[in-house]
Amino acid sequence: MIKILLLGSTGSIGTSTENCIRRYRDQFSLVGISVNRRIESALNQINEFSVSHISVGTDDAYNQFPRDQYSSVTLYKGDEGLLQMAEELDYDVLVNALVGSVGFAPTVAALKRGKKVALANKESLVVGGEVIARVMKEFGGTLLPIDSEHSAILQCLNGEESKTIESMTVTASGGPFRELPSDQFSKISVETALKHPTWAMGPKITIDSSTLMNKGFELIEAHHLFDISFDQLKVVVHPQSIIHSMVTFTDGAVMAQCGLPDMELPIQYALTYPKRLPITSPRLDLATLGSLTFFEPDYNRFPCLNLCIEAGRAGGTVPAVLNASNEIAVELFLNRKIAYVDIAKIVSEACELHTRQDALSLEQIISVDRETRSLVREKYGR
Ligand code: MG
Repeated sequence: MIKILLLGSTGSIGTSTENCIRRYRDQFSLVGISVNRRIESALNQINEFSVSHISVGTDDAYNQFPRDQYSSVTLYKGDEGLLQMAEELDYDVLVNALVGSVGFAPTVAALKRGKKVALANKESLVVGGEVIARVMKEFGGTLLPIDSEHSAILQCLNGEESKTIESMTVTASGGPFRELPSDQFSKISVETALKHPTWAMGPKITIDSSTLMNKGFELIEAHHLFDISFDQLKVVVHPQSIIHSMVTFTDGAVMAQCGLPDMELPIQYALTYPKRLPITSPRLDLATLGSLTFFEPDYNRFPCLNLCIEAGRAGGTVPAVLNASNEIAVELFLNRKIAYVDIAKIVSEACELHTRQDALSLEQIISVDRETRSLVREKYGR
């Protein structure tokens, strides 16, 4: 029985994880969950999976929780609660499906205990990839990607020697503005930015996908997960999202992992890695599909992609600034305080103004994260 702690249990990754647990109830159990404020959905999960621990994000949610009815359930609160659960509970895998850099501390806590972390929270690796690498060296622990692209790469690497890897290509759907002329970007509304062509996800990652910030994050994520240089990392736009990513080897062979877009595959693969368990979803039929298309990404219309590559190359505390300024900029855009094109401008400015330091510890990264958030909020959040 694999005991799962699921942080971010009611989002799109959380509910897909639920489906995986439901599919193999004899192999998976859910010991703890976290929600920001969706108490109703959390109670359904507690009832269905006999969850014994829950952390809630807000004071309101904490007060709303029916403690009398659920006296056997241990209740935690806030960022501290997430960390406590990762540090204290008895689990085998942490599925980290939190949104934003709040996921970083629980990832580190789980790895410090030598646990397996199935990571959907890419911000953990973006802000703290160097710290995480050191923690894993010292304490062990296993990091498995839940991102479809990185799961694809992991699958392509099965049985291969790392010295035979020449490059990795991450595919991108291109988002809803793939064909939008550059003079139209200043008019992009919140509503149009929230419509992703292939994946249904939460608002933060949907905006990140539309700016290609998400793809840039994925390059940083790949750099840390697979210990590969930015020179060996490529992006290709592939609107159908059928090839989830590929690896080129030194003999010219290219391995690609394909399939219909479905997050349950990467989630379940991370939970059972290196084994596979059946999923009876619709199958890929290439003849019906007819054709797949590929394009070079447009770095001018999507400046966030280059911002990520530059921040990733700089390393140290710069990626934490990149991420924090983006989190606040996206929040401000969603709250209609800034224009769509301001997201890239704000991130670029925050990275430029920052004086790079070597990444030393979790505490330092968290303090850079907080500083950047308040700087950006003060300057643009009125
Ligand atoms: Mg992805």
